Amino acid sequence: MPFEFQGKHVTVAGLGVSGVPAAKVLHGLGARVTVVNDGADERARAQAAELEALGITVRLGDGDTLPDGTELIVTAPGWKPTKPLFTAAGQAGVPVWGDVELAWRLRRPDSAPWLAVTGTNGKTTTVQMLASILKAAGLRTAAVGNIGVSLLDAVTGDEEYDVLAVELSSYQLHWAPSLRAHSAAVLNLAPDHLDWHGSMEAYAADKGRIYEGNHIACVYNVADKATEDLVREADVEEGCRAIGFTLGSPAPSQLGVVDGILVDRAFVENRHKNAQELAEVSDVNPPAPHNIANALAAAALARAFGVPAAAVRDGLRAFTPDAHRIAHVADVDGVAYVDDSKATNTHATEASLAAYESIVWIAGGLAKGATFDELVAGAAKRLRGAVLIGADRALIREALTRHAPEVPVVDLDRTDTGAMLQAVQEARRLARPGDTVLLAPACASMDMFTNYNQRGDAFARAVRELGA
Ligand code: ADP
Repeated sequence: MPFEFQGKHVTVAGLGVSGVPAAKVLHGLGARVTVVNDGADERARAQAAELEALGITVRLGDGDTLPDGTELIVTAPGWKPTKPLFTAAGQAGVPVWGDVELAWRLRRPDSAPWLAVTGTNGKTTTVQMLASILKAAGLRTAAVGNIGVSLLDAVTGDEEYDVLAVELSSYQLHWAPSLRAHSAAVLNLAPDHLDWHGSMEAYAADKGRIYEGNHIACVYNVADKATEDLVREADVEEGCRAIGFTLGSPAPSQLGVVDGILVDRAFVENRHKNAQELAEVSDVNPPAPHNIANALAAAALARAFGVPAAAVRDGLRAFTPDAHRIAHVADVDGVAYVDDSKATNTHATEASLAAYESIVWIAGGLAKGATFDELVAGAAKRLRGAVLIGADRALIREALTRHAPEVPVVDLDRTDTGAMLQAVQEARRLARPGDTVLLAPACASMDMFTNYNQRGDAFARAVRELGA
């Protein structure tokens, strides 16, 4: 039964990227919208003025009190479930939806099915690969979610789609109880955002919601048992299949790699005997192991949608990764310089370090409570040296002392804008021809930079100065 918005009292929790468009759409549907927001800074005031001009009520500086008469809350996905607003909603029996739930409910009955992707790392890349494959198959599609088109625009706009490639975060999934994807993938599960979810179990459970009610395929990572467990626990449509992806040789109902070829043993006739070649490993850009895993997950979702093998190959060839994700910046004196500034946690950095033989590693920043022992112990053999930057660099230095005492470490005690140039110069000094200087910080950037983009740009600029 579609939700009737006409005349309903809807509280939108949080201005910002999802709140402002949600408020406008709900207002347009005849709802009586009140927006509540914790902050009241200049930006919030400007957004409030824009909404108030449309006749929407905005309450700045108090996101904790439930407005009287609220019948539904539509929340920004980042708002913590423990906020008093939600406690009050729970007591009053008021449902809470996130931006994804809203988009899902506003879909037209004949609207495009969703192929959904979540995971601790690799979501954006995989969704973009998937969209590229779907396009190569001649389908009208878009990568939506945190990237490109917003979900709300994709479902309420004029553009027509055959299928959507949807990136979903654990926060968004938490607030999306009725989402039912055509097929979905959980790429991997490592501790992240635990302060928000409360525990690893709660985080995993929220990620696992992506499989609920899947129609055709639940795609999991054979190397990450936790993702397979989530499939087992999910309540799916009759006939929906569990499809694994692996960097090894695939068993029936899996996609994997054989002799440098990506192969499908899931969506083929007689999968116990047959396999379908999809693409070569070298068609994946960059062909680092974790990225091949992303490509296999994207291929599995595309194949679940009935895409032919040739489109998987063409789509992967046409795909170029977003900036700052294992981006090759330049070769200087036989040393490759690679920007993986987006590696903001240890799980991503582990994947990045696994992709190169001999590395001078530039790392550090805000650790967000992470520990580095496992990461450093696993990569020690491949480290030519390390250059540490940022507020929490001592944590990484201590891990290096414990697990890689031979590795030379340069500890940069400065956080000014010139620090990255010095870091790159020190890395150059440590590197030998054939090595890779890899910026994969395992930390957030906000102690020194506005965001990971700016950190990666500073690295690239410094590398270009070396080469000049
Ligand atoms: P997300 O959207 O989940 O943040 P991205 O595709 O933007 O993922 O990649 C984020 C970071 O994670 C990058 O630094 C990348 O090197 C790393 N990464 C990408 N795919 C994987 C994967 N499958 N496993 C581990 N790390 C990955």
